[in-house]
This record gives sequence, structure tokens and C-alpha cells, in this order.
Amino acid sequence: MKRGILFVVSGPSGTGKGTVLKEVFASVTNLHYSVSATTRAPRAGEVDGVNYFFVTNEQFDRMIADGEMLEYVEKFTNRYGTPRQYVERLLAEGKDVVLEIETIGAENVRRSMPECVSVFIAPPSLKELWNRLKGRSTDRSDIEKLRFETSREELASAYGYDYVVINDEVKRCADAIAAIIRAERSKVGRNKDVIKSILEN
Ligand code: 5GP
Repeated sequence: MKRGILFVVSGPSGTGKGTVLKEVFASVTNLHYSVSATTRAPRAGEVDGVNYFFVTNEQFDRMIADGEMLEYVEKFTNRYGTPRQYVERLLAEGKDVVLEIETIGAENVRRSMPECVSVFIAPPSLKELWNRLKGRSTDRSDIEKLRFETSREELASAYGYDYVVINDEVKRCADAIAAIIRAERSKVGRNKDVIKSILEN
């Protein structure tokens, strides 16, 4: 069976990855979202098993020790990781999977799974990024500043990706990512069996 495509979507904090991907999932079918594990506390409205698997530090340690993490990272005193089994199973079943992760994790996945398709979501400008981060009411101001500084550094990592999309407008950005997904699905290299069966029938 043909393996599914692993899409790694990343970008600095505050670029709106989550909002954009919601739109993408509304318009692209047969796409699966990898739910991460995290040690951070749930925010208002977040649901365990939907937004994240909310775990303790001990549970997170055990997942690492058991080889259950495809990648993981420590960020802003919290830890985030991609559970391996779900992703591997879907890819083996020929299903396409999306990882929405920060840039260090994305770099690690690009290295360990070089066949993945990586998409970098960039803000239109640093000023815009600053405004968006300040608009988030959930963080203390010192954490906000730390996030902004980190985001600047993360922007510089964009050069290593397959695609870059600017999030100046959610719908436009989501459309661009949907186009990338459809184009990747149509690549000849992924569809040799289709061509063969047309030729043979
Ligand atoms: P937040 O706490 O705002 O939900 O997420 C903080 C950052 O961690 C975001 O950039 C988010 O994309 C990233 N993130 C979420 N899950 C994972 C994961 O499993 N691995 C990595 N490396 N980053 C993640």
C-alpha cells in the first residue's frame, strides 16, 4: 500500500498556525491531525484528547523512555511531543497526517523523516507578530516578551522548509496550504500505480 504523506506545519508562536489549519481541515478531505501530548495546563475551552493529551511530567518522561515520542521539545517551561504510534499507523495505512509543531520539533522531524513535506507559516511582519502576541490575554507579559524574542529567532529557520506561506489573511493562507497539499498529492512519484492501472486497463 502507498504510504500517506506527512505534512509538518510550523512557524513562530503567534503566526496563527492553529486558526489557519482549522480552515485547511474544513476544505481538504482525508487529512488527519496529530494530537500532541503536553505538560502545560489546559487553557479555557481546550479539551483533553482533542487539542492536546494533557499529561504530567512523569507521564511525559515515561512516553520518552518507552520510545513513544516521534519528537519532543521543551518550550516556555512546558513540554510538547508528538505521539509516534498514531502518526506511524496512519501513514502506513496510506493516510495523510498533519503535525502542527514549533520549529525545533519541525527541524527534528525533517531530519528523521526527510520524505515529509514541510510548510512554514510566516507573519507579514515582525510588528504584526508583536501585536498578535500582545493580543493574547492568556500569557503574563514576561512570557509574552520571551515568546516574541523566540519568534524572531524561529523566523530565521524558514530557509530549511519546502514551502513558505505568509499569514496576512487567514483564508488566503489556508487556501495556499490547501493548494500545497493537493499539489503534493498529485505528484507523479506518488501516483505511479494510478498511471500503471490506467495503462493496463
Ligand atoms: P501552545 O502552548 O500555544 O498550544 O503551543 C506552543 C507551541 O508548541 C506552538 O508553536 C505549537 O505549535 C507547539 N507544539 C504543539 N504541539 C507540539 C509538539 O508535539 N511538538 C512540538 N515540537 N511543538 C508542539
